[in-house]
Amino acid sequence: MSREIFREVSCPVCKLQINQSLGVVPVGDRFRQALGDAVEIPAAKVVRCKACGLYYVQPMPFLTTEQYDRLYDEDYFPQNPPRWEERRWRDAERRLGLIADLVGEDGELLDVGCGEGRMLSIARARGWKCRGLETSQPLAKAAEKASGAPVDVGVLESIGYEDSRFAAVYLDSVLEHVPTPAEFASEIARILRVGGAAYIVVPNENGLSSRVLGLVQALRGHNRRLTPFSSPYHWIGFCKRSLADCFRRAHLRPVFVRAMHGRMEIWKHPDRSRSWKWWLLHCLYTTEELIGMGRTLEAMFQKL
Ligand SMILES: [Zn+2]
Repeated sequence: MSREIFREVSCPVCKLQINQSLGVVPVGDRFRQALGDAVEIPAAKVVRCKACGLYYVQPMPFLTTEQYDRLYDEDYFPQNPPRWEERRWRDAERRLGLIADLVGEDGELLDVGCGEGRMLSIARARGWKCRGLETSQPLAKAAEKASGAPVDVGVLESIGYEDSRFAAVYLDSVLEHVPTPAEFASEIARILRVGGAAYIVVPNENGLSSRVLGLVQALRGHNRRLTPFSSPYHWIGFCKRSLADCFRRAHLRPVFVRAMHGRMEIWKHPDRSRSWKWWLLHCLYTTEELIGMGRTLEAMFQKL
């Protein structure tokens, strides 16, 4: 069974096999429980592709639907305090504005991995016709109830939406959990209409804080990148180059690929505390945003 779930892969973006090992991956209890007692989890490592710069876990897990459901149940999604809501709403409006500037607002928007349906609610309030897709049945039901938009249960590669159906495909914090990002990007290209756009948010593995914190971990003898077998289960790690490469190979044109900035003024942060560690970390986050090396990438790609 474990042989079917864990497979040795070539680079999930460029398909080459020249990589550098960054160390062995620790396995968390929750990951072990989600996979079940019958599955033997092999010793795995994080590697970096020397050709395209992608980080990924080797061997790669290919989970069943039931295992995904157990891994990403409601406990996985943090409950944000209400004081964060206004800021999240503003940022969602900004993102929808970027999409609308490129494609207009007359088509259908698909939110892949829509979680509890926050973006669907905001998009609907702005007048978008929209639809969600979730791997988890309970989450899909919750998203449908919260947003009023239809939410399908399944995975993008096999759900079979019609060619050229969508004006926009939205993915926030999804692609780093997908074992086959190149195939995922091709499927997005297929279901987008000509002129349509994919808007993507992923962690930036080459952000300044990722580098600094990774170095601190390395000095303490830990693996420096991703935490594929413990929360938040990132199996793939992108930098600007590998993210652009992934979608360019699917014949989608990069409109922008950039580190996000201006997300939070540190002195207005709702969770600011007096702990020196908090201030040190948030000074690092502010610095990396100011110099364009923030820890989150946002990108937009267009089908020509
Ligand atoms: Zn590669």
